[in-house]
Amino acid sequence: MELNKRQTEILGIVKMDGPITGEQIAERLSLARATIRPDLAILTMAGYLDARPRVGYFYSGKKPVQSIADGMIGMKVGDFQSIPVVVHENVTVYDAICQMFLDDVGTLFVVDKSSKLTGVLSRKDLLRTSLGNTELDKIPVHVIMTRMPNITYCKKQDSLIHVAKKMMDNQIDSLPVVISKNEGMEVVGRITKTNITAAFLSLAEEHDL
Ligand code: ADP
Repeated sequence: MELNKRQTEILGIVKMDGPITGEQIAERLSLARATIRPDLAILTMAGYLDARPRVGYFYSGKKPVQSIADGMIGMKVGDFQSIPVVVHENVTVYDAICQMFLDDVGTLFVVDKSSKLTGVLSRKDLLRTSLGNTELDKIPVHVIMTRMPNITYCKKQDSLIHVAKKMMDNQIDSLPVVISKNEGMEVVGRITKTNITAAFLSLAEEHDL
């Protein structure tokens, strides 16, 4: 909720000098008590102010639910994304497993020779191939990866809520962050469930929860 100029002024007065009566606030603004009544009602209903009979208005110190909601909607992929780890599609399954350990990630993105996104490799994709298979150094990852056009991706400016929904709907742990490039897509970041958790926590910290 956007506060208007007068409501912002009232909030400032109460923050500084609360508890303070409606009459005193009106006096400070050189206005009639009746004129500021709707503003006080809005500030109280929205949770910015608390009112006690015979004491007056005081600052609740609580951030209204609306401001938490606004904070959530404002969280964008670009503010929380991590560095992507990519492998070439001809890399072997064995090397991809090593890469996953070396870079400490749960998902690898696969690219072709012109750096265009062609696939995704998850931990379980690699684990599944490893079961009963001793020739991991002979199988290229493009044989086992999830490939285009079945890749769920996002862009920097997308809302994090939208991305979280895609993760849940598709039962995946991460999405590549891409930019369009020559009829394909270049991977510029990754967004994982860990990033979503970090965003959730930052929202809580921002609101002193
Ligand atoms: P895990 O398989 O280790 O549980 P995920 O849940 O992320 O990890 O992956 C589940 C399946 O979905 C895998 O086969 C993987 O290749 C595929 N996958 C993972 N991320 C994506 C994505 N962004 N788009 C499409 N498919 C994906």
